[in-house]
Amino acid sequence: MKMKTIIVGLSIAIAVLGAAWYFLGQKSAAICTFSGRTIHAQTRAWITIGGKKYETCCVRCAITEARQTGKPLRILEVADFETGKLIHPEKAWFVEGSTVNLCMRMSPGMESPDQQTVYLRGFDRCSPSILAFSNEKLSRAFIAKSGGTLTTLRKLEIQAQSESHGARQ
Ligand SMILES: [Zn+2]
Repeated sequence: MKMKTIIVGLSIAIAVLGAAWYFLGQKSAAICTFSGRTIHAQTRAWITIGGKKYETCCVRCAITEARQTGKPLRILEVADFETGKLIHPEKAWFVEGSTVNLCMRMSPGMESPDQQTVYLRGFDRCSPSILAFSNEKLSRAFIAKSGGTLTTLRKLEIQAQSESHGARQ
């Protein structure tokens, strides 16, 4: 009788583990080629580097790649941070350098103003963060809350063309 309970219990456990493994497997498909990080719907971008098309974890990661390899970058589509919907970069309002960076998964301590200098000093290919908004008003409201400044696609393209001084990561 007891044995039967154990077997039933084990079967359920295996089924649950199997389902979890299946769903995790589904998620792991969305990994950025350049950073190896999870691609978040709110920050992803479709770009070409050296003529090859990639989906990246964020616009900053793509700019870093272009700077490190010296290959030309074209930003094709960026996710609207509010909705996750892909939009044309010409229509986006870019917020650069806010405290929100989904790629870096910062600990709460690192997000606190006191320790911000520690975070800024280190090089990370996804930092300073770049987020895109389809709505100017929402982008300004975001800045009021989480910091950063508005920038343009043109300025980001210029950054992508400048030589990198950060270490390869
Ligand atoms: Zn990134």
